[in-house]
Amino acid sequence: MPAVNAAHPSPLDVRGRPLRDLRISVTDRCNFRCPYCMPKEAFGRDFAFMPRDELLHFGEIGSIVKACVPLGVRKLRLTGGEPLLRKELEWLVRGLRAIDGIEDIALTTNGSMLAQKARLLKESGLDRVTVSLDALDDETFRAMNDVRFPVSRVLEGIGAAIEEGLTPVKVNAVIKRGQNDDQIVELARHFRDQPVILRFIEYMDVGTQNGWRLEDVVPAGEMFQRIAAELPLEPIAPNYPGEVARRFRYADGRGEIGFISSVTKPFCSTCHRARLSADGKLYTCLFATEGHDLQTLIRDEDADPARLREAIATIWAKRDDRYSEIRSDDTRDLPKIEMSYIGG
Ligand code: SAM
Ligand code: SF4
Ligand code: SF4
Repeated sequence: MPAVNAAHPSPLDVRGRPLRDLRISVTDRCNFRCPYCMPKEAFGRDFAFMPRDELLHFGEIGSIVKACVPLGVRKLRLTGGEPLLRKELEWLVRGLRAIDGIEDIALTTNGSMLAQKARLLKESGLDRVTVSLDALDDETFRAMNDVRFPVSRVLEGIGAAIEEGLTPVKVNAVIKRGQNDDQIVELARHFRDQPVILRFIEYMDVGTQNGWRLEDVVPAGEMFQRIAAELPLEPIAPNYPGEVARRFRYADGRGEIGFISSVTKPFCSTCHRARLSADGKLYTCLFATEGHDLQTLIRDEDADPARLREAIATIWAKRDDRYSEIRSDDTRDLPKIEMSYIGG
């Protein structure tokens, strides 16, 4: 594995943060309509998704990743939309696996197609998966995905990921007050007996379509209290500096759990993430108002690696984002990109 090339040292952004992780959205489409992400009223039958010829080809994604490695990127996460809707995603995984310097390739998925695809993904070089699952109660889950998808098939997907060794398997649960907050303790109980790390995520004001209200957010502190009242918890140290989840283990030694408190305890000061949309725009924050077009650069300039690397380095060096730290009534109405577009 090459060290960061001394000729192209890893740039720091305006706030002294290095670039370490790249989240790659491979499609803006999804087979679910989770109301906090792609509410049906906004993402209906006539919604204009990205035209297919505007999606980056796998080779183009590979070129961008290669340009990012000398700048410090070590970890990749494939996301969307629903990434498993992208045809032959395993070939992208294969290509990314072959890039020197990439240490970890993960996938975030709604799990609906994971049971069928886990083996092929593992064989292609995927390291691990995170499955989003907001409820164990079937009726609540069907309402959360809003396409009446049964919870049993997602649980099968999680089982297949464990079986194939796409580990550690993580399960992310977004909690919205009045919708699935009655599932918090049940989710904790269920997953502590499995080789799964469950993480609770505060409902965020991403995009402009989900009708976000602060009163619908269940603060991580409250989720912690609800679980700890029944299953005592002890803190554990972060795996690495800048880890977004605060980690705990159950006092009886059975299982680990985490809380991602982007609203009540923002972690912008250690945010090392950039996001690449499926049509090739680079975003330096989940709440960015606009992205930087790399697709034109690749297609017009014939992917000159040095130019691409310099363009990304310049974008990163100018980065000053810290939306979650300055979230207020003044920031609420800023134009924002939808999460299904930018990649979660
Ligand atoms: N479709 C895949 C999935 O659901 O895992 C990948 C894309 S999805 C946008 C990535 C993650 O973003 C999911 O875990 C989802 O729960 C989370 N997410 C979407 N909207 C959110 C919101 N408003 N607040 C917090 N998390 C959100
Ligand atoms: Fe689809 Fe994931 Fe968004 Fe739900 S959270 S609508 S599964 S992209
Ligand atoms: Fe990173 Fe932006 Fe989220 Fe802050 S708000 S943690 S800068 S993505």
